[in-house]
Formats: sequence, structure tokens, C-alpha cells
Amino acid sequence: MMTWSLGALASCGTATQEEKPWIVDRFDDIKVLRYEVPGFESLPLEQKELIYYLAQAAKSGRDILYDQNCPMNLPVRRTLEVLVAHYPGNRESGEWKAVVKYLKKVWFANGIHHHYSNDKFTPEFSESFFTEALKTVPAALFGDELIAMREEVCRTIFDEEFFKTRLNQTDGEDMLLTSASNYYQGLTQAEGERFYAEMAARDAGNPEPVSYGLNSQLVKRDGRIEERVWKVGGMYTGAIEQIVYWLEKAREVAHEPQKTNIGALISYYRTGDLREFDRYNIGWVKDTLSNVDFNNGFIETYGDPLGYKASWEANVNFMDSTACRRTQIISDNAQWFEDHSPVDPAFRKKTVRGVSAKVITVAMLGGDCFPSTPIGINLPNADWIRKEYGSKSVTIDNITYAYDRAAHGNGFNEEFVLREEDRERIDRYGKLSDDLHTDLHECLGHGSGQLAEGVQGNELRSYGSTLEEARADLFGLYYLGDPHMVELGLVPSFDVAKAGYAHYILNGMMTQLARIEPGKNIEEAHMRNRKLICEWCYERGREDRVIEWREVDGKRYIVVNDFERLRGLFGEMLHEIQRIKSEGDYEAGRLLVEQYGVKVDPDLHKEVRERYQALHIEPYGGFVNPEYELVKEGNRIVDVRISYPADYSAQMMDYSKNYSFLPNRN
Ligand code: ZN
Repeated sequence: MMTWSLGALASCGTATQEEKPWIVDRFDDIKVLRYEVPGFESLPLEQKELIYYLAQAAKSGRDILYDQNCPMNLPVRRTLEVLVAHYPGNRESGEWKAVVKYLKKVWFANGIHHHYSNDKFTPEFSESFFTEALKTVPAALFGDELIAMREEVCRTIFDEEFFKTRLNQTDGEDMLLTSASNYYQGLTQAEGERFYAEMAARDAGNPEPVSYGLNSQLVKRDGRIEERVWKVGGMYTGAIEQIVYWLEKAREVAHEPQKTNIGALISYYRTGDLREFDRYNIGWVKDTLSNVDFNNGFIETYGDPLGYKASWEANVNFMDSTACRRTQIISDNAQWFEDHSPVDPAFRKKTVRGVSAKVITVAMLGGDCFPSTPIGINLPNADWIRKEYGSKSVTIDNITYAYDRAAHGNGFNEEFVLREEDRERIDRYGKLSDDLHTDLHECLGHGSGQLAEGVQGNELRSYGSTLEEARADLFGLYYLGDPHMVELGLVPSFDVAKAGYAHYILNGMMTQLARIEPGKNIEEAHMRNRKLICEWCYERGREDRVIEWREVDGKRYIVVNDFERLRGLFGEMLHEIQRIKSEGDYEAGRLLVEQYGVKVDPDLHKEVRERYQALHIEPYGGFVNPEYELVKEGNRIVDVRISYPADYSAQMMDYSKNYSFLPNRN
């Protein structure tokens, strides 16, 4: 599971790149930032080398995600890339600039659908301009295959109804037939659900079930349903072979137990056997000492409407030992937090196992962690492994630092926070409360609680992700304001919670709406979760005005009047959501999400967007990666050099040229 920046308030107002060199590019609703990797230079050579090989592996799977997101993504991207590289026409015209912007958006979203809203991009150039522009570039540069696919490429870009949304979660619609993602081909939702229900039934009673369907496409051909497994020799073999090549290199320089773990991951990529993936995950959870660590694989299932299939992602990181004190205190007290959790005692874990938490510095992001990236990660996702072996949780300090630096002084708080006292607290404690909330969410929240006898953990289906994020968020919110946090020395006072609560409610009820297109509802799991929590607490505390709407000079503000009561409401809601998860109560979960988490008030939506736009703040932030280069003397590697590129498009073109290992059709 992943945590994303609460507001992603990355912004600089109207500052230029000279004033803020860490802002690399801005287009549409996106700002691209640079993150730094402090401490890399002083790592021992073999750790630098390990990072280099893992970083190569992290870049090698990029095309997999494109194809997973939509089967036409690779041909569309490649057609645009050839055009943008070779177009001989006027590059100053408005329509040409719109083509370039479209490609930048495709790179950012790893496809033609918005990375957050899942809606297909609307091109701001005409089809006739585009087809004429394509004719100005020699056909040989595209190659026969792309030329043959050109009509379909155009239809994909210009036909509004074709691949309309990446992930359709609308209640009551066939989510498989109407989603553009490439996880299922030719099946109805009922057929997909039945396929995995039967698989689960055959495996009933197995205390160590594999994550069915995690690493395959499900296809119906000639009336038969089959899984196409993502492995060496299977679907996506071109990219997976490259990943394995670099993992082999990494294994050579790694030490035990990491060496063995990398071996398990390689074996999983070679065989596609999900038991090997579990073996790797168990080894990975147990390894809390290796300074350099990484994720590489099919991990998160947010993109599958049924919640089985995982998108490919990667990151490479190393420990930030000075910042680990905070998470060390939290994980040392994990049992205390679990024992005092406001959920039904039957659903508390009797023994919290191996919650290991650390603060890390990322050195490379790839796949579904790039260019938009989470600020916290908690893995593995398999419930039985979490119960038996615990989980590993990280917060990514150099990413939150980069967001915070870009957000400073952007006018956001002045516009949306009514009371001076709240603004002061957010200014003072905003980063601390965000960091702590992420730590609690990742390190304890996701790992907390247990399922009732006979419940498998996937009963909540398409509502599972939202409810799981809500559970972890509520755990974090509830404890952020616990007096024990002061006793543990994690916060100076309840003011840190007040800052966090005020910001959370503001974001969940108002400002996150800036990310939604007019007329749309909320689709993304983390956004649904925030809205769900805020609206539920608002309604429960309405009579006593715990949270209140105020209007000043024609502008709406949301104000928390009673922070203690709000904390109590977080606890009550956690109690209910834990019950839903533990009992697998699909209907109650569905009702909660549909009632509180999805629908947007159009007037409020319009107001938020207008006020937000007036600040010139892009609601989404993402990153360029640093670059690494082996320094050799003869054949001997003597150092690994890091540099920070300042050109987003150049990095994307470079990745497409050097790390593109899949055919147009997979
Ligand atoms: Zn989470």
C-alpha cells in the first residue's frame, strides 16, 4: 500500500525556474520537481554499485506499466515521440505546443489517461493538424508497424468514447468491459469475478494463499478463459528479461540476506510462480538491516477494478539513519498502539509482529512510482504474510522535503484557511504532522487489526482499496492527537494534531476537489477515502458543530471547532471500518463509500477550482530522477557518479530510447 502527498501542494506561485531551480517543468495541472539524494556520495562503493544496478532494473520495466494502463498506450506514445523528435514545421504555433503538452501528459501518466482521475486526456489540437504533421516526418522513422497502426492511434487520441476511462468504478456498470486498462480482455465483470472466486474456493482453508491473479492478464478467447502470466517467456518477457539481467548484477554485489532475497525475486520473474513471490516477500520483510533496499515487481492493485492485478512499480532507496529515530519510537511501541486502538477488541492483533519502520532516501523511482510518487509505502500486501511476519513501512523523506520546499509561500493557506491560529499552527507543525501521520498510517495503520475467522481479505472488492486507506488514515489521525504521543516525545503538544486535523479536513472536504474535472465525481481510492472520513465526521458532529462551514465575503471556509471531539469521531469511525474489513461486510462498505466518498457538490467544486486556479498552483506534483553513471578505471568500477538533470522531456525521451523493451502490441 502507498500513501500519497496529502495535498500535493507542490507549487511556486508564479516563480520562474531561475528563482526555484528545483522546479523542472510545468504544464497543465502538473509540476515536475527535482529530488535530491543527500548522502549518496558518502555511501561505500559497493552500495553505490548496488543502487546503480537496481536503478537500471527500476527503469527497465517502464513500458510494462504503459501497456497495463491501456493496450494502445505504447503505439500512441511512440508515434508522438517520433513526431516530436523530427517535426520540421513551426514549433511556435499554438497547435504544435498543444501536441508537445499532450505528450508530456502521456509521459507523466504513463499513458493517455490522467494518472489520478483516470479520464482520457482531451487533445487541444485538431485531428487534421495532427495527421498533416505526421505526414511531414519520413515514414521510415516511424517504422511499418506504427504506420499500420496510425488509424487506431488517431482514434485512440481523438474519439472521446474509445478507451474513455482507464478505471471505471461506477456502481452498477460492468467495470471490466468499460475500463480501458489491459488487465482483462474480452471478459465481463461477472466472468472475471467467477474465475477468481472459483480459484479461491479450490484453495479454501489454505492458511497461506497466494495472491491470485496478481501477475497475469485474464483473457477470453474462443470461449475459453486463460491467464497470460507476466514472466520470462510469458507476457512482457522483453522487459522482464532486462529486469532480471540487472537483478543478477545486483545479486553479485549484495550481501546476505539480501542476496538470497534477490535470488527469490529473480526466480519469481523467471517462473511467474506466486509462491516464489511470497518467499521473496517473507525474506524482504525479515531483512531490516540492509542499508540499501528496493521494491521491484507487480505490487499494488489500485488499477484493477476487481483488485487482483498489480501494476508494475519500482523504487530504490537507502536508510536515512538520523531521521529514523521517529519511526523507531513508533515501531517500538507498536503493541501499545494496537492494544489501545478504538476498535472491537476481537479485531485487534494479539501480538503485533515485526512492524519495522524507517525513513528512507529514494535514489530511483520507476513504473507506477514515477513520475508521480508516493511519500510512504507499506509492504507486503498479502494479509497472511503481514500477520505471520509483519510488514515493512517506509516514509520517504527526500520526497516530502521536495514537496515542502516547492510549496512554501504559495498563498494556499492564506486563501483557504480562515483562522489565523490555524494558519500559524499549519506553518509551524504542518510538515511534522504530515510526516507523523504518514508514519502512523504506513507503519501501524495498514498493519493493524485482524480478520474474523473465515474472512479472506478480498471480500470488499472494488471498495477494498478505499476502505483500507480509510482504515490506515483513521489510525494515524486518531493517534496523532493521543496524549501518549507527547509522552513518547514525538510531538511537543496537541497543537501538532490540531494542525494536522485542520489541514486534513480542509483537504478532504474542499481543496482536493481542485484535482477533479468539472462534472466528475471522485474515483481515486485515496481521495475517496479522505472525503469519506471528512464527510462522515462532519455529519456525525453536525449538531454540536464539531466541523462547520463558514462564509466570509462570499467565500466558503471549513473550520474545526472542537478538535478533541473530532478525534473521538475518528476513533468511532475506525471502529466501524475495522469491523467492515474484519467481517468482510461488502454491503456496509459499499454504502459508506457511495454515500460519503464519491459525490461532489458542483457549486463548491466550482468555487474551489476558481480560487485554486487564481493562485496558479498546479494540483499535482511529480519528479525527474537523478542519473547515475559508472566511473571506471580500465575495467574496474571505481565510483558511481550522480547528477541531477533539469530537463523533463529529455529524460523521458532518453528512457523511451534506452529502456523500451516491449513491442507495440503485447
Ligand atoms: Zn495507505
